[in-house]
Amino acid sequence: MAFKRTFTDPIPAKQAHRYAELGVDALHGVARFAGPDTIVVEGRTLRARHILIASGARPVPLGIPGEDLVSTSDAFLELQALPRRIVLIGGGYVAAEFSHLAARAGAEVTILQRAERLLPHFDPDLVGWLTERSPEQLDPLFRPAYGAAVGEGQHLRVVLDQVSSLTDTSALAMHARLGAG
Ligand SMILES: Cc1cc2nc3c(=O)[nH]c(=O)nc-3n(C[C@H](O)[C@H](O)[C@H](O)COP(=O)(O)OP(=O)(O)OC[C@H]3O[C@@H](n4cnc5c(N)ncnc54)[C@H](O)[C@@H]3O)c2cc1C
Repeated sequence: MAFKRTFTDPIPAKQAHRYAELGVDALHGVARFAGPDTIVVEGRTLRARHILIASGARPVPLGIPGEDLVSTSDAFLELQALPRRIVLIGGGYVAAEFSHLAARAGAEVTILQRAERLLPHFDPDLVGWLTERSPEQLDPLFRPAYGAAVGEGQHLRVVLDQVSSLTDTSALAMHARLGAG
């Protein structure tokens, strides 16, 4: 993590410097509309005929009990140490990347994918070849009947159905992102 920060930490300042050189003003703070052509940020009022909203996206709610206990990809990237077991909810490209990375680094990883295969929007042949070569600590479950995430001390239990569950786990939601955030 410390090593990662040596190259990620300087990036915001470098970008701000580049914007300034290009003549782009960067203001820091939560922006809100005060009228159809007016934005207020950090006590400054800005007016413009056209305003572009580019406020990103947030994860789609899972709609399961205990979902507030489930982390997101942002938290994965900030982990100080790799958990022994990880459950990834969702089987898109972020889950594919993180699961392989974590499994290669020694974690036991379970992917809960509601579709019938990983990476449903990618070429099926390529996905098949990738899956064949996945590390053995990586276990994808397709169309699981997962129902809840339950906190147990420092651990999290992901309940799949009436009888089975995954314990001693960090659960991370790697599902689609939605709307402005
Ligand atoms: C784990 C992960 C891996 C990814 N990997 C890739 C990849 O390999 N290749 C790729 O092309 N894409 C990748 N993506 C997707 C990519 O990150 C997004 O498509 C991209 O960041 C979207 O850019 P954006 O500028 O629209 O939004 P964001 O990058 O989310 O930026 C929006 C910004 O707006 C700010 N903001 C929100 N509300 C306000 C407000 N009211 N006032 C002021 N500021 C506000 C937010 O703080 C944020 O800084 C990945 C995404 C994730 C989550």
